[in-house]
Amino acid sequence: MSLTLYLNRRDWFRHMEHMEELYPGCVPVIKGNGYGFGNEVLADAARKSGKREIAVGTVEEARQLEATHRFDQMIVLTPVMSELMEADLVSERVYTVGSRDHLQFLVTAVDGLLSRGTGMEEPFRLKLLLKCQSPMKRYGFSLEDAGLLPEWIQRAETDRVKIEIKGLSIHFPKERTTSQAKEKCIGDWLETMKRVGLPSGRMYVSHLSSEQYHQLTEKWPEVRFAMRLGTDLWLADKSFVETKSTVLDVQPIRRGERFGYKQQRACRNGHLVFLAGGTANGVGLEAPIASRGLKDRLKLTVFWVLSLFNRHLSPFTYRGKRLWFAEPPHMQTSVLLFPAGSPLPEVGEELPVQLRMTTASFDRRVETGEVEETMNAEENEEKGNPVHLAL
Ligand SMILES: *Cc1c(COP(=O)(O)O)cnc(C)c1O
Repeated sequence: MSLTLYLNRRDWFRHMEHMEELYPGCVPVIKGNGYGFGNEVLADAARKSGKREIAVGTVEEARQLEATHRFDQMIVLTPVMSELMEADLVSERVYTVGSRDHLQFLVTAVDGLLSRGTGMEEPFRLKLLLKCQSPMKRYGFSLEDAGLLPEWIQRAETDRVKIEIKGLSIHFPKERTTSQAKEKCIGDWLETMKRVGLPSGRMYVSHLSSEQYHQLTEKWPEVRFAMRLGTDLWLADKSFVETKSTVLDVQPIRRGERFGYKQQRACRNGHLVFLAGGTANGVGLEAPIASRGLKDRLKLTVFWVLSLFNRHLSPFTYRGKRLWFAEPPHMQTSVLLFPAGSPLPEVGEELPVQLRMTTASFDRRVETGEVEETMNAEENEEKGNPVHLAL
């Protein structure tokens, strides 16, 4: 039984190379469910395309990936506010802090670990990115905080923990923020950091057009910018992925007959079609939608009214038509109702399913499109050559 992700590896790598051209030196973001591929698959892909630096979402994800993959630098994007362990005292790790609380918590946690004795002679160099507030209003120091930052950093340091600022980090909204507003925000931060005497030679950014990214590098040649890429790198227009579900069973049902977990009565004659993929795979789990405008609201109202009658549109399609759930999906199976007379799929056939890749988890991944490598990526790096894959 399978909910399958088909990945055209050749097109996928070709797209990654294209993104590298648009954003030279970009930093792949590997987090959560690995954008539907899994974090390890993404880490492999990042290594294969010669990346030495990646960003992960949480400290837990950093621990997991460090067990299997080596990078020179692994940035943790989410501030740490939970206990650390000895495995966290690795020099590749770079933590993001966006408030005095984040800073103090992290240093105290590291200092606490070191106080138990680790045999380190030198103080531990804690590498940090300073998160700058953007119109996002998600964690980040404010421009007003900036003047106090040098003192906060100095005060947080202990005999055992020295802080090394590796750069600045800013995360922009995806919508409704003009490129001028983004540029001004970056300019304000660079200027402020210079004024307060904090390093501003490296800045990590996100959600910028390639054009704007290049403009920034021209405007501030003394700053090494790095673009963080997640969705645009791994998924883009999703033209290299296909998601399909296998038909597991087809059962005839008469109107009024009871079926399923809920033992509801069928509303018409037809067939129940059982498909691979349920809530455990992210089927039927939609993130809340931000409605904008009357059309969106009408659409949502229609779905809400239908849901009062237990009618839920499923993400599965057959011959180009969206299908309806017969009842809410379960852990690993979904059941659809095909009305009598409509064309029926066969057991073993695969149906396309539309899933949100950031909540999906697949039973298996099948790779299509061959990638021939001119040389093993790691050998190539050792020789100091940039890695290119023959596609
Ligand atoms: C997740 C994340 C990204 C990547 O976001 P996408 O929208 O998936 O490209 C970039 N920067 C930060 C700080 C993030 O948390």
